[in-house]
Amino acid sequence: MKIHFWGVRGSIPTPLSPLQIQNRIAAVVQRISPRDLESADTRERFLSSLPEWIFGTIGGNTSCLEVENHSLDTIIFDAGSGLRELSLNLRERPGFSSGGVTYHIFFSHFHWDHLQGLPFFSQAFDPRNRIVFYSTDPDLQRILNDQMKSPYFPVPMLGPGGFNAKMEFIHLNNPSKSVKIGSSIVHWHTVNHPGGCTAFMIEDQGKKCIYSTDTELSREDFLETEENSRFFSDADVLVMDSQYTMDEALEKTGWGHSSFSLTVDFALNWGVKKLMLFHHEPTYTDRKIYSLCQSAQWYREYAGSRHFEIQIAREGLEIQL
Ligand SMILES: [Zn+2]
Ligand SMILES: [Zn+2]
Repeated sequence: MKIHFWGVRGSIPTPLSPLQIQNRIAAVVQRISPRDLESADTRERFLSSLPEWIFGTIGGNTSCLEVENHSLDTIIFDAGSGLRELSLNLRERPGFSSGGVTYHIFFSHFHWDHLQGLPFFSQAFDPRNRIVFYSTDPDLQRILNDQMKSPYFPVPMLGPGGFNAKMEFIHLNNPSKSVKIGSSIVHWHTVNHPGGCTAFMIEDQGKKCIYSTDTELSREDFLETEENSRFFSDADVLVMDSQYTMDEALEKTGWGHSSFSLTVDFALNWGVKKLMLFHHEPTYTDRKIYSLCQSAQWYREYAGSRHFEIQIAREGLEIQL
């Protein structure tokens, strides 16, 4: 199973501002010495010595995760603005331009940051393709159609000029059931978020990945119930909402997001092997988000474990399981 992060920000797309770019260039100039410019090798070494928040970015697109399973199906979790990046990338892949591809798109919920990329998913306009949409909301088709109606978007989803791919809308109505897609099985579980949200767990070839965005963790999530254990325990990768610092989480109780430290406790509780901090707060700079990751690693040790990995989800990152 291959996991690709196409959008990792929460709430709203967050492009780098001109001032942030200027500050990064200034930070590079401050660090460089004549010796760093002597040869291609020294230049390369200098660049690789720069902190990630200077030489790169977390990315500004909102939630979109692609999973390619063992049988090469394309499974997508959420259609935030990152979906557009995925759409552009799909066009470059061998075999994808000839169409005839099935895309499976699961929605955690329909807040804009999980939906706004859908009108730009050009593969949906190609009649040779097939798109299967999944949600725990029985109104899935109406909700998707409404957000592309005039005056919100110039092209309607259904009808002439709209999505020409063959479409199916699957209502996930029973959490004890699952969906089989090629070599993998997808399960779902309700999490705590205003208006509701669904976490997904995908199993493939003995590996387990959980996508749990927009989750305000509570005591119930730590209880060893049969459903919690089946869903959360022993995941190889847990991609989880860790939007806030602890004091911000306390200030924003009821907003539907978790602090990074609670997410670490949660991963520890369920024996997760790798925690990916996800759904980054749009007002936090890249530098602050990297420092949260560092704090999460310190907290993990304080909480008594070094046995699981913590990483920042950033745009373009790929994980092979
Ligand atoms: Zn969100
Ligand atoms: Zn939300």
